[in-house]
Amino acid sequence: MAQTVLVTGGAGYIGSHACKALRDAGFVPVTYDNLCTGWQQAVKFGPFEQGDLLDRARLDEVFARHKPVAVMHFAALSQVGEAMAQPGKYWRGNVSASLSLIEAALAAGVRDFVFSSTCATYGDHDGVVLDENTPQLPLNAYGASKRAIEDMLKDFGASDGLRSVIFRYFNVAGADPDGEVGEFHQPETHLVPLILDAIDGKRPALTIHGTDYPTPDGTCIRDYVHVMDLVDAHVLGLRHLLDGKVAAGGHEVFCLGTGNGFSVREVIDQSGHVTNRPVPVSEGPRRAGDAVKLVSGSEKAVAVLGWNPARSTMPQMIRDAWRWHQNGGYDG
Ligand code: UDP
Repeated sequence: MAQTVLVTGGAGYIGSHACKALRDAGFVPVTYDNLCTGWQQAVKFGPFEQGDLLDRARLDEVFARHKPVAVMHFAALSQVGEAMAQPGKYWRGNVSASLSLIEAALAAGVRDFVFSSTCATYGDHDGVVLDENTPQLPLNAYGASKRAIEDMLKDFGASDGLRSVIFRYFNVAGADPDGEVGEFHQPETHLVPLILDAIDGKRPALTIHGTDYPTPDGTCIRDYVHVMDLVDAHVLGLRHLLDGKVAAGGHEVFCLGTGNGFSVREVIDQSGHVTNRPVPVSEGPRRAGDAVKLVSGSEKAVAVLGWNPARSTMPQMIRDAWRWHQNGGYDG
């Protein structure tokens, strides 16, 4: 019988792609989502249970009904700017909510946990390429909240035997090439979809947040991963757990980047090139909480999980995002 996985945030950008990958790998993905930023139309690959992570009774009911073998925890608030302005929202919505989820999972006897963490837990490290052992010194409440959840998973490993695979994502872009799901935030704050909005006139211009950073062209550098490659890593991480490769109480951290850094201006240039359209651009001040450069290799995920981020080239990510941008979207 197919195994069930509880996917928190399965109605969101990355979670919906993960549900498709899980379904394709023979699992039943049950989405648990409060729809605060997700879309019910994105839940296409398994059952949907609407609920909030802070609602422990609702979580208990869902665990009892679906009997998942593992949890994939994507549900989170994830905007650096918002986290700087409203840190309480992040400590409650990410940290308290994750505590409620972990306690509910353990009460239901579920001990395998795949967690979406972030390169925002690192902060600035003088431009070095980051890896799993780089110290985590977050610059904003978003990164701090994710680091706290990583710590929480380790603590519940020691106390209750929880096993976790922790993925630190770098920047995620692209969309399902079949066009079934894609990136759709309201309001949108991420670079690639905002550039595509500027290209097709949905907004007047892309504002570059800071042009005086200590980088070759003055703009911040990020490492972009195709969402399809990212969710492949999650299925591999889940199998790693279910195959007993992580000892009881253990945790394993993997960085999911490609080792290639792209500046904001480089992403803009490549977007213009791939779409063959001009990108209207304006220059603005720095955005509070932004690190100068966040780039990682993926040696460990490749060596241990057999991950192959073959679709994570900038033209491929922009091409898939552009196709979704022109034909997809959800209307609430
Ligand atoms: N960025 C920008 N203009 C925008 C949105 C983002 O210049 O309208 C920059 C942002 O400052 C960062 C990079 O693009 O250097 C990626 O930002 P995004 O919000 O997509 O992801 P983050 O790195 O914050 O997770």
